Amino acid sequence: MDTTKSIEAFEIAKKLMPGGVNSPVRAFQLVGMEPIFISHGKGSKIYDIDGNRYIDYVLSWGPLIHGHADKEVSDALLEAIYRGTSFGLPTLLENKLATLISTRIPSIEKIRMVNSGTEATMSAIRLARGFTGKDMIVKFDGNYHGHSDHLLVKAGSGIATLGLPDSLGVPVEITKHTISIPYNNIEVLKKIFDKYGPQIAAVIVEPFAGNMAGIPANPEFLQAIRSFTTKYGGLFILDEVMTGFRIDYHSAQGLYNIKPDLTCLGKIIGGGMPVGAYGGKKEIMDHIAPEGNIYQAGTLSGNPIAMVAGYTTINKLNHNSYTYIEALADRLIQGLSKAAHTNHIPLKTTKAGTMIGYAFIDHPLQNFDDARKIDAEMFRRFYKEMLKQGILLPPSQYESIFISTAHSIQDIDRTIHAADVAFKRMLS
Ligand code: PLP
Repeated sequence: MDTTKSIEAFEIAKKLMPGGVNSPVRAFQLVGMEPIFISHGKGSKIYDIDGNRYIDYVLSWGPLIHGHADKEVSDALLEAIYRGTSFGLPTLLENKLATLISTRIPSIEKIRMVNSGTEATMSAIRLARGFTGKDMIVKFDGNYHGHSDHLLVKAGSGIATLGLPDSLGVPVEITKHTISIPYNNIEVLKKIFDKYGPQIAAVIVEPFAGNMAGIPANPEFLQAIRSFTTKYGGLFILDEVMTGFRIDYHSAQGLYNIKPDLTCLGKIIGGGMPVGAYGGKKEIMDHIAPEGNIYQAGTLSGNPIAMVAGYTTINKLNHNSYTYIEALADRLIQGLSKAAHTNHIPLKTTKAGTMIGYAFIDHPLQNFDDARKIDAEMFRRFYKEMLKQGILLPPSQYESIFISTAHSIQDIDRTIHAADVAFKRMLS
């Protein structure tokens, strides 16, 4: 595989941007290689600037549930672009997307559009604090909620990848209000509520921890968060930035039959354009300006381009889309597990709805401590062998795989075959 042009482009990029990238995980540091530079994508395939073709399981880290350059989404985008890219004034498209989202996620009675998942969680935290009059936030080790100061405490994803327990530049005064405790552990959660219950403004959680190798929440764990927050008058914030419209037709809250007070969204609801949103109970959302006194705003929030891409993407998703993706996900994890077993490779897979994860580890994954024991060297070798065979996986052992409606059974079978070859080469 020739990647000369990517290597040259990266040399230039490193002089222009920190680490040569605009988001850390893209630097491919963890897999010990130079990143590939992308020229274009179509369906389940992505092409680098050297002309190599890959089956893509990154899908822009989740948003592209219909694959690259989907015709309907692209047509809708083109039409919208010619009408004007941003007005800073209300449009009917915002009503359309808000209606569609609250129809599929009924706990969202009112919604506010923002520009990223980070903005969504940051704003939901502010709302929870303003609404409850309390300061303390509970999160879970390895859950990633974006890079706002309050939530950059034991976050997974790029932070874990780079081995930073936290980030410089975040004042202790800010994070002292954030408690991070182990995921899927009801006893510790109970202890925290016993001690601090009345001071807790909100508990924020990922229903499928996609940034720590893909660990599903245990249903009882989510129920426990629901009952503790209700009992003590805090809010339950479900971070569905990754799982929203991906894990299930009704998102994770539909799959788990759980009703949060606030939900954070991003990724798919922008159909590949920068977007985020937070929403929930009307009586809570009405505390946001201009109706209430909790301030939050955005020049490009609700812009027509993101609204149209998100609306077209979600509107195209029906129950069959999820059945199809889930069948592909099942086929992939069964194939990977079988190939790993045959080659005596320790591999654990995880799954909830259409979302799956895989990790080189020989015991089950329940929390961040487990995820930290993943064999990083084995992942690196696997990653390179897969890339050489035209399979693009997320370049971090902590990230889960994304599959789209554009992926085919042939894509999955090629991937399983490539994994079998990779495992054999890893052993030799
Ligand atoms: N929350 C979750 C669960 C995420 O997975 C992410 C991003 O990966 C975020 C929040 C932050 O979203 P963004 O990268 O759009 O700021």
